[in-house]
Amino acid sequence: MTVHELPGTGPVLGIWAHPDDEVYLSGGLMAAARDSGRRVVCVTATRGEHGTADPQRWPPARLARVRTAELRASLAALGVTEHHHLDLPDGDCAAAPFDAVVARLSAIAAEVRPEVVLTFGPDGFTGHPDHRIVSAWAGATRDLAAPRARLLYARGTADFFDTWRDLYARLAMFDGDDLPARARNDELAVELHLDDAAADRKLVALRAQATQTADLLAMLGEDTMREWACRVETFVDAVPANDYIAGC
Ligand SMILES: [Zn+2]
Repeated sequence: MTVHELPGTGPVLGIWAHPDDEVYLSGGLMAAARDSGRRVVCVTATRGEHGTADPQRWPPARLARVRTAELRASLAALGVTEHHHLDLPDGDCAAAPFDAVVARLSAIAAEVRPEVVLTFGPDGFTGHPDHRIVSAWAGATRDLAAPRARLLYARGTADFFDTWRDLYARLAMFDGDDLPARARNDELAVELHLDDAAADRKLVALRAQATQTADLLAMLGEDTMREWACRVETFVDAVPANDYIAGC
């Protein structure tokens, strides 16, 4: 199986829904791109203000503040300094006017001129409705404002989900019986295997978002967290690469 290098050499634009999506799905890629001198710009649709099982302790305004600071620290650990919040409502992104959101994203994309756009697939990876609509916005943004950019969807392989089957059964994180979407090994556009140093750096970035990761780290243990969440990042092309090249 071919192990693919980082996609392209130019700017990378990541478009995600909640603080922590970006580090779980692309933290290693972002850090490697920054290390090689590339511009990396990250957009987060919401502040994740409802991302808690204990809203008494974490009322939305407080959680938004804390997650904003956590995200900044997390991205800093990866060397990413350019970030935009869209400030859309956590859990209700789909209620935002589609064209208006795409216009905001397009203004960012027009300035960044990304060679690569990273986002969720239409499945939303976990199936979260915010993830699904963000995928649609990112696709529309690429088409409108960065038509030559390569659009990559974060997607795990069947092998990966088989390896971690028991863990996913415990976490119950997928919002749909048809999930997760599984990539075939031969359709991967990007397959990053993080070495120990890169995986540890990603672990630092995950730890920085403690409101989302502290309980998980305590439950799984650091070693499992590193192997499961930090070792591998995989993406597929939004359209087959040959079609993409032909369409340019
Ligand atoms: Zn999310």
